[in-house]
Amino acid sequence: MNGFRHFFKSFMLWELLVGMRLTGRYLFKRKVTVQYPEEKTPMSPRFRGLHALRRYPNGEERCIACKLCEAVCPALAITIDSEVREDGSRRTTRYDIDLVKCIFCGFCEESCPVDSIVETRIHEYHGEKRGDLYMTKEKLLAVGDKWEAQIAADRAEDARYR
Ligand code: SF4
Ligand code: SF4
Repeated sequence: MNGFRHFFKSFMLWELLVGMRLTGRYLFKRKVTVQYPEEKTPMSPRFRGLHALRRYPNGEERCIACKLCEAVCPALAITIDSEVREDGSRRTTRYDIDLVKCIFCGFCEESCPVDSIVETRIHEYHGEKRGDLYMTKEKLLAVGDKWEAQIAADRAEDARYR
């Protein structure tokens, strides 16, 4: 009996009708398709996009080369070298993030005691060769310099919910 019912349903294209009924139900509902990239969906201030290194308002690098971010990174994507300056402060001489390895977990950002390394909202970037996605200290600082206003606003908004 079950076999006959199955054959009858297949013969009458029953699954197709069920599918068409579902399509019809949504045909006149409000459309939710976003016409990206002209339209964008709202984005959380905690979005984990491209990394940046930040500076203080006086232009000094925030990073104190504590290497917590390097130690916590589960993908081993961060490489840091450091030196002690003449004034006794410790600063990085090398700060690289290999975005090909990075899994955008945000641990580096969470571990940083001085809000230096952050992940920005920037997600529309690409590399055409491996080196393009290898973020050196200079590249990371340049991202930070360019987007500091947005980064600071996002950090302030994020802090309100912590
Ligand atoms: S986001 Fe995660 S994987 Fe990427 S560099 Fe930071 S700690 Fe490493
Ligand atoms: S970015 Fe932050 S956690 Fe990483 S070495 Fe610099 S100060 Fe330490």
